[in-house]
Amino acid sequence: MALLLGCIADDFTGATDLAALLARSGLPVSLRIGTPPEKRDRSETAAFEVIALKCRTSPVEIAVEQARQALEWLRQAGASRFFWKYCSTFDSTAEGNIGPVADMLMAETGTAQTIYCPAFPENGRSVFMGHLFVGEQLLSESPMKDHPLTPMRDSSLVRLLTPQVAGAVGLANRNTVLKGAAALKARLEQLSGDNIRHVIVDAVCDEDLGTIAAASFDMPLLTGGSAIAGQLPRLYVEQGLAERPRHRQALPKAAGGQIVLSGSCSAMTRRQVATYAAQVASLRLDPIALAESGATSACEWLRRQPDDAPKLIYATAEPEEVRRAQERLGREKAGQVVEEALSEVAREAFRHGTRRFVVAGGETSGAITQALGVTHLAIGPEIAPGVPWTFAAIEGEAVALALKSGNFGGETFFTDAFERLGAA
Ligand code: ADP
Repeated sequence: MALLLGCIADDFTGATDLAALLARSGLPVSLRIGTPPEKRDRSETAAFEVIALKCRTSPVEIAVEQARQALEWLRQAGASRFFWKYCSTFDSTAEGNIGPVADMLMAETGTAQTIYCPAFPENGRSVFMGHLFVGEQLLSESPMKDHPLTPMRDSSLVRLLTPQVAGAVGLANRNTVLKGAAALKARLEQLSGDNIRHVIVDAVCDEDLGTIAAASFDMPLLTGGSAIAGQLPRLYVEQGLAERPRHRQALPKAAGGQIVLSGSCSAMTRRQVATYAAQVASLRLDPIALAESGATSACEWLRRQPDDAPKLIYATAEPEEVRRAQERLGREKAGQVVEEALSEVAREAFRHGTRRFVVAGGETSGAITQALGVTHLAIGPEIAPGVPWTFAAIEGEAVALALKSGNFGGETFFTDAFERLGAA
């Protein structure tokens, strides 16, 4: 199928979120973990190709270089329109990498002007008068102010982006967006006349996103969160660039045991784990014990469970316990032993016939997919906004994976996930 849009995402669960919103259209979406080393035959590409990088907090030169390689691959695969996906809370360090990567992509794709639209109204992220809100709170007053890697202490996207890009940053505000696509296009042209190439666009609801997409979809490069990209498939169909899908893409049936592996300690995951642990056989991992004796006993526990019984293995813990493990082992080591143990458990589960995996945690998902040798995922039905079932072939076997970042999904996410798969 002709490649309609080549997407580059700055982290792993951000890429699955983007892929999920594109897949709502019913058009085929494929997700590659890192830029594939080989150049691809065009017949093997989906309508939407997403390359997941892990460069949100990398040094600027590394992020730019990784994005350049991804762009090159997407071009080789036949893409001529591109999307640069970052977090709906604009997670970045003071140096980047949202701006520097956008600058490079604009230069490489001959884009004279692009938009920045992180808004994701369905998940409570909105932009008004250039300021980003999380629910009713300004970004800088939301829990993002204390993020360990990218603390967001300013809510003005113009101020955040300006030091990251060459040239001035402009704003197309909600009053313009409300007037419709023609008015927004006129505003973009006016800014272009003033030589403003980087434009923040306000959006507080999905209708705003529809207007913005209609005004900007022919730019060679667009940037933003997953929600603005989610508007594009419909526009492509309306413009005759793609045929309206008549039936859903056939997805592989992953037949085999099921397991939930959780390494996320986010508030929502803690509730999800507590709910699910009350229903199925579960095993809690303690990082201090893991550091001493590894994952052997967890693998033994797993082997004792009936193959077809649902099970949960988790390191998810309350902040107090996480702190204790971190004080004992160091922050990095505590995270590493958990990621390694869950990876080993995942491999053991696969060896014993598990074919349906739900993984909680962004970093944890990265570690487990890598351990299972997954490099390419097809995108299936959405379980919660931004969390789809994905499908991969591992050693020739069809495997279903749901990869959930910390705060996504409702309290019954784990049971919802398996029910959704059963009904798909
Ligand atoms: P989220 O998406 O919620 O941020 P991540 O998987 O990205 O989840 O990050 C959670 C990190 O915390 C991982 O590196 C994981 O290994 C680590 N971790 C999990 N459980 C514990 C624990 N009990 N103590 C210390 N660190 C933990």
